[in-house]
Amino acid sequence: MKKFDFHTHTCCSKHWIWGVDGLSTPREIVETAISRGLDGVAVSDHNTTRGGLLAAKIARKIDKNFLVIPSIEVKSKSGDVLAIGVLEELTIKSRSLTAAEAVEQMREKGAVIIAPHPYGREGLGSLVEKLRFDALEGFNAHILSRYNRKAKELAKRLKLPMVASSDAHIAEEVANGITGLDINELSIDAVKDAIRREKTKIIQEKHTKSMGRIYSKKIGLLFHVTKRPPCDEI
Ligand SMILES: [Zn+2]
Repeated sequence: MKKFDFHTHTCCSKHWIWGVDGLSTPREIVETAISRGLDGVAVSDHNTTRGGLLAAKIARKIDKNFLVIPSIEVKSKSGDVLAIGVLEELTIKSRSLTAAEAVEQMREKGAVIIAPHPYGREGLGSLVEKLRFDALEGFNAHILSRYNRKAKELAKRLKLPMVASSDAHIAEEVANGITGLDINELSIDAVKDAIRREKTKIIQEKHTKSMGRIYSKKIGLLFHVTKRPPCDEI
């Protein structure tokens, strides 16, 4: 069984209010994912595929047996939509699309559409029932347990496959949520196909410690602004 983290952010990710979001470079995300024994990672920066495309380039150089899936977390007018496998350079203005438009546009680009943290902040809540998703996050490491429990109940009710993800905003958080996929070939097409055919299994649920959350979302911003390299340094 191959192991993936389907939701991570690099320093190319931009927060819709204060700008800075992920605090690690694409290289740091890739290297950490490899060191934690993952077979692949989806780099899903807010509103841009830039971090994912850079991470894929880095992974091709350092480990041919590791797969980066360039992805994007679109901040729609109603909350986040996670699109796995968007292979073109793409930037979307925050909150410029409705959730339905985000789902439709990303599906047209061939992505697998996941509802991330449906009951957390920026989750889509009951909209998940109205739109067509391929899967939902049954575990997000940044979300309170009771909201993850509700997400799992929703997935069962809607008969949708579940993934577990870290939603890492710093490299140390990578692999806090791991999804197993039963695939023979390590390729983006095989990953997308396995999710669509409901061949996912949650194999790690490790909550990000609250200090980690505070660090990555608030205090780290100062550090980031003064110390971090530009996101396109590969
Ligand atoms: Zn996220």
